[in-house]
Parts: sequence; structure tokens; C-alpha cells
Amino acid sequence: QANERESLYLVSEFAKEYFHKTLLTTEEGKAIGLSYFKERGFTQETIDAFTLGYSPDSWDAFTNHAIKKAYKLEFLEKTGLTIVKGEKQFDRFKGRVMFPILSMSGRTLGFGGRILTNDKKAAKYLNSPESDIYHKSKVLYGIYHAKKAIAKEDNCYLVEGYTDVIQFYQRGIENVVSSSGTALTPEQIRLINRLTKNITVLFDGDAAGLRASLRGVDLILEQGMNVKICTFPEGEDPDSFAKNNSLEEVTLFLEENAQDFIAFKASLLASEAKNDPIKKAETIRDMVVSIAKIPDVIKREVYIKECSRIMDISEEVLFNTLAQILQKEN
Ligand code: ATP
Ligand code: MN
Ligand code: MN
Ligand code: MN
Repeated sequence: QANERESLYLVSEFAKEYFHKTLLTTEEGKAIGLSYFKERGFTQETIDAFTLGYSPDSWDAFTNHAIKKAYKLEFLEKTGLTIVKGEKQFDRFKGRVMFPILSMSGRTLGFGGRILTNDKKAAKYLNSPESDIYHKSKVLYGIYHAKKAIAKEDNCYLVEGYTDVIQFYQRGIENVVSSSGTALTPEQIRLINRLTKNITVLFDGDAAGLRASLRGVDLILEQGMNVKICTFPEGEDPDSFAKNNSLEEVTLFLEENAQDFIAFKASLLASEAKNDPIKKAETIRDMVVSIAKIPDVIKREVYIKECSRIMDISEEVLFNTLAQILQKEN
């Protein structure tokens, strides 16, 4: 259904421009949305580059405007911009600041919207639902802006959120993308894999779910890519860190703290297991499972040796465990 997809692209493009214009030219947009972005440290140039926007705090202002401009309710509903309930229509992103999500080639696929109040009952970020043009497992926020720099730097920074991408980009580190809160998928990694074999994953300094997130990193190893990990100080994320530090400081921090994934995981696990033999045994398995994902046999061997040193386990045991795991998989 090429025609229908085209209609979804068109209405998404229209919405992006509408939200952006609302942010910059309406009293409400300026007072609420624009001042919010300015407070976060985003310049006008950055706001324009990412076409950030604001959706009015009204039940149906956007939907009514779109219909007046002859966009069909059918497509507004299919993109999720409008929620239809019987005879009534509601704006999905009512009262939120808007982050358009673009494809590799710059087409508008969907949106993330951030709430501005401290209402704990409402989700902080709301995303477009899946549609014929928006598949959240296949997009990376920021990829359109980052692709050139990723190829040029031959490295890609992977961050957790929208504002991390934007703040890094504004600071002058443009090779940065985000999976925006969803667990990393093989499709997302493939998008990066086309541009570089090197990924540096930057984790928020809240340690929440770090162990769980490391599972996702195995998917990067599986694609034969090189992975580094960098965590931020407690309470900081790439956004806050880049906001409060110069380009030189951020660059230095990344250089000094980005650690090879396998080494990072080995020392993390080693410190967790310490004097608990049972935990240590589990940990060794976990570690070797990661190493087993690496397609290159030589790299695997190098990592086994390094791991043996960090975790204080004989190479022989590690190689045997590796052989067991590989055998199970085949
Ligand atoms: P901010 O700085 O605006 O508070 P953040 O990007 O630092 O946001 P995190 O809590 O670190 O937010 O979450 C990382 C990412 O996860 C967000 O950018 C967003 O894409 C996604 N996310 C966070 N909270 C939610 C939520 N309640 N619903 C859906 N997605 C969310
Ligand atoms: Mn976080
Ligand atoms: Mn964060
Ligand atoms: Mn943040």
C-alpha cells in the first residue's frame, strides 16, 4: 500500500511543521514549550535543526487544524496523532513538547512527546504507536543528523534518550543516536553497522537496569562489532553532563572512561561475585556467553585471556566453558 504509506508520511510531515510553528509563534508555545527547551540549554539553532515542537494543551486543537487543512481523519488516526473515540477526537500529544523521529533519509516517521508537569500518573515520554511507517524496533532517534559524523568518526555513541542526543549534538559530538527507552534490537544495530563497526554505549549514571541493559549489548557483539561502554557519574546522564561541561571536557571524559565491553563486564561481574563461589561460577558463565557471541575466533581468544586475568580464573576453564556453550548453540 504505497499510496497509503505516502499519506501517512505527509500527515506526519505536516504535524512536525505544525508543532514546530506552534512552539515558535504562539503565545502558549513560547511561554511553555520554548522556555522549557531554553531552560534545558537548547539554542534556537538546535531547536530548528531537530524541528522541536509543542502540542497545544487542548483536546483537539491539532486535529481540528489538520482536518481544516484537508488531512483525512483516517490517516491522523493511523499515525496515532489523533485518538478517535466514537464521535470524539483527541490529540494524542496534548500539552507536550515534541521530538520528531526521522528516518535515515530524513522523513518524519513518528514522535516522542515529553510531559511538562510533574504529574506522576502520566508517562514522562509518550511515543507514536506502531504504524505502517513507524516501527519503533527499526528506528534510531538522531540517525538522520548523525549518519555523516558516524561514518567520518568511524564510531557511534549510543545514548538512552532524546535529550542526550540533542545535547551531545549541540556540544559538537554529532555521531550520536538513541534507541529511546526501548531495548536495543538487531535491526537498530544493523542501521549503525552500515556506517561503522564501532559503538560506544553511554549509560545514565543511575545504574538502574545496567545488568539488564548489558544483555542488549551482546546483540552488538553478535554482529561482529566492537563495543565500548561508558557510564556517567551518579545522577548524571549524557545530557546533563554535556550541558555542564565544555566539548574538551566531554571528549576527555569519554576518552578516559570508555572501556572495552568485555573488560567492563568482567570487572563488573568480578566485583559483584567477590567471595561468593556460587555467584562467581554464574558470573563466569555469563561472561563466556558474551564472548561466545563474538564471530571472530581470534578476538574470542584474546578476550578469554583477558577475562582470565581480570576474573582470576584459569584460561583452560574458560576455554572449556566456551566450548560447552558453543556446542549447545549448534
Ligand atoms: P529527561 O532528561 O527529559 O527527563 P531522559 O531522556 O533523561 O529524560 P530517562 O528517564 O533517562 O529520560 O529515559 C531515557 C529514555 O527512555 C527517554 O528519553 C525516553 O525515550 C524513554 N522513556 C523514559 N520514560 C519513559 C516513559 N514513561 N514512557 C516511555 N518512554 C520513556
Ligand atoms: Mn535513565
Ligand atoms: Mn536520562
Ligand atoms: Mn535526562
